Amino acid sequence: MTFSIKEWQAVHLPHWAQQRSDGFKATQSVPLAVFTRLTADVPESVDDLIATLNVHAYYGPPSNGVAQGALWLDLAASTRLPMVCQRCLKPVVVDIHAAQKIRFVATEAQAAMEDDDCEEDVLALEPEVDVAALLEDELIMGIPIVATHSVCQAEGYQPEPDAVVEAKVSPFAVLASLKKPT
Ligand SMILES: [Zn+2]
Repeated sequence: MTFSIKEWQAVHLPHWAQQRSDGFKATQSVPLAVFTRLTADVPESVDDLIATLNVHAYYGPPSNGVAQGALWLDLAASTRLPMVCQRCLKPVVVDIHAAQKIRFVATEAQAAMEDDDCEEDVLALEPEVDVAALLEDELIMGIPIVATHSVCQAEGYQPEPDAVVEAKVSPFAVLASLKKPT
């Protein structure tokens, strides 16, 4: 089953989670260009690139006398994003893998109260959840602060073996040589 981006943006999550006893899983590739916030600063065209999205919506086991467990959404997304290498200033393509668990609660107040204390994200359940935006948020958080090639040389860098050797002479040695009577 594949969804249009419009469908990813307005998901009735309980409907997904109730489809099967183990919830609902979907994997889909979408054009990277649909994520306009993620690709806003990309230095080149993203027309040929895709992002792979994985979702699993399900109800957790009931607990504390509550008949129905919490509604969960496990998200995972991966893509390749063109960036600028901060060492040589040439294009570099960075692999981004993001994953996050989200637990939904009834109200914003409850979400705010619980969010700091747990590993998962806690959100208030809305009638229509923008799952595409949640996935895009995770990908954005997965962008490295500094992108570099694993091997490259700084822009304008010219190896100067002599300079390296000179730098190894301790300033104290220089001082000592100055003190010697000539
Ligand atoms: Zn580089």
